[in-house]
Amino acid sequence: MVRIVYVDLQPLTTPIIESNISFSIYKIPLSHPLNIKTNSLLSSPTISMEHPQQELSIVMVVMMPSPGMGHLIPMLEFANSLIRYHHHIIVKFIIPTDGPPSKAQTTVLTNLPNGISHIFLPPVTLSDVPNDAKIETIMSLTVLRSLPSLRREMRVESHRMGALVVDLFGVDAFDVAKELDVSRYVFFPSTAMALSFFLHLPQLDKETNCGYRELVEPVKIPGCIPVHGKELLDPVQDKSNEAYKWILHHANRYREADGIIENSFLELEPDCIKELQKYEPGKPPVYPVGPLVKMDGNVSEPGLECLRWLDEQPHGSVLFVCFGSGGTLSSVETNELALGLEMSDQRFLWVVKSPNDKIANASYFSADSKADPFDFLPKGFVERTKGKGYLVPGWAPQTQVLAHGSIGGFLSHCGWNSTLESVVNGVPLIAWPLFAEQKMNAVMLIQDIKVALRLNNNNNNGLVEREEIASVVKCLMEGEDGKKLRYRMKDLKDLAAKALSENGSSTKNISQLALKWTNKTSAAN
Ligand code: UDP
Repeated sequence: MVRIVYVDLQPLTTPIIESNISFSIYKIPLSHPLNIKTNSLLSSPTISMEHPQQELSIVMVVMMPSPGMGHLIPMLEFANSLIRYHHHIIVKFIIPTDGPPSKAQTTVLTNLPNGISHIFLPPVTLSDVPNDAKIETIMSLTVLRSLPSLRREMRVESHRMGALVVDLFGVDAFDVAKELDVSRYVFFPSTAMALSFFLHLPQLDKETNCGYRELVEPVKIPGCIPVHGKELLDPVQDKSNEAYKWILHHANRYREADGIIENSFLELEPDCIKELQKYEPGKPPVYPVGPLVKMDGNVSEPGLECLRWLDEQPHGSVLFVCFGSGGTLSSVETNELALGLEMSDQRFLWVVKSPNDKIANASYFSADSKADPFDFLPKGFVERTKGKGYLVPGWAPQTQVLAHGSIGGFLSHCGWNSTLESVVNGVPLIAWPLFAEQKMNAVMLIQDIKVALRLNNNNNNGLVEREEIASVVKCLMEGEDGKKLRYRMKDLKDLAAKALSENGSSTKNISQLALKWTNKTSAAN
């Protein structure tokens, strides 16, 4: 007969990693004169036993990202960090879909390391969903309608599941986890500020009768810089839209989680994270584990040729321009951006997508530009900027681009993955937020952390015009303000590396989670 012995090290004061212990469950005969003291385990990775017959009990963590790339990428990185140090943990991605996987999805899911696997759930039907449904509604419905197939998948291996980790639109899957007695966690792939807003939303909703953009005073998000109502996430801008109801529904359910995993780090958002970690009855513990970004390039990634062009450019001289996996501009914006870049006379590398008003049925989930996007650029632009500018259609290996020494700035939509990728590479930003929580991110980056420049659209048409683009690009690449931002980013780059180092704040949190999940499974078996 065997009994599983495990050592509960919480509260964790000494990081497990520091002692080189890869935490494991040791199966030891009941009668065995085991001589383990917690301290000796911490100070030495070897356990003194007469019969050191150690069987590793495998713990499975199921991760369920909602469709698209923005959440899949950081969850994959989180999975990588987990299995890197905790060899008894395996991760299975169970991915809901409403159609065949995109090229971008298949690319990142190819060649996963041992210990991480994935399956796509059968596509759900969304034919009854109105054409103008917002992305949050589509993601939430895709998850909701995938629950029967998720249940079937999870039932098979629930006995060894340490946790179900869903992203911010996946909390309805908690019902399945509850049925199977599996712990429930939210992976929050955006800022701690956005998480604080989500947790605050149910109360804000009760207190506010008008639309948030009509509020005269800025909204006070606990621990964060105040934000004007119109800068809050897109889906809360129209309370009558289904998307708002979904967001509120999810925000209410966050409190059912056993913990919330946050892709930021203490040193980046100190006040907000400290506020989130303050004890409050019913509020789940928050574990900042970031910055989790995809650093290694994939040899089959599209657009790799641009790296060779970057090799030929002077150090820090190129502005990277990219609006994420799904972000697109209108034809007018595309035109102004092109002419602004040209007018700035700076080197640039631009991931060009077809304008959103030119593509029928453009899908947010599709990273692939449906037509030749260069067709929509101003006449003669490609020829005039040859040599100084490099255009990549649809998709570039962004993390490799940002890590390249020739990059000196990033004009970005301020998606959180892109922002973190910029931080870990010390690249200052120009903010051009488009949708989701990007306007909030931009406020934080410009006013609070001070690593981004703003593009003003203070004119009658609300458009960012070419002259403004040219002047802000020049300022970032050559001006004094750009220099200050670059120094600040360099500091953050070092702090990010520290958070992820063996003794770093984020690494400790990942170890705590691994321990919790291991304990839960061993207690059940
Ligand atoms: N990305 C990329 N190449 C591109 C566009 C995007 O590799 O041409 C990656 C980028 O590195 C990031 C992710 O896609 O990891 C975009 O995530 P983010 O949160 O910035 O924005 P979203 O796509 O969710 O709007």
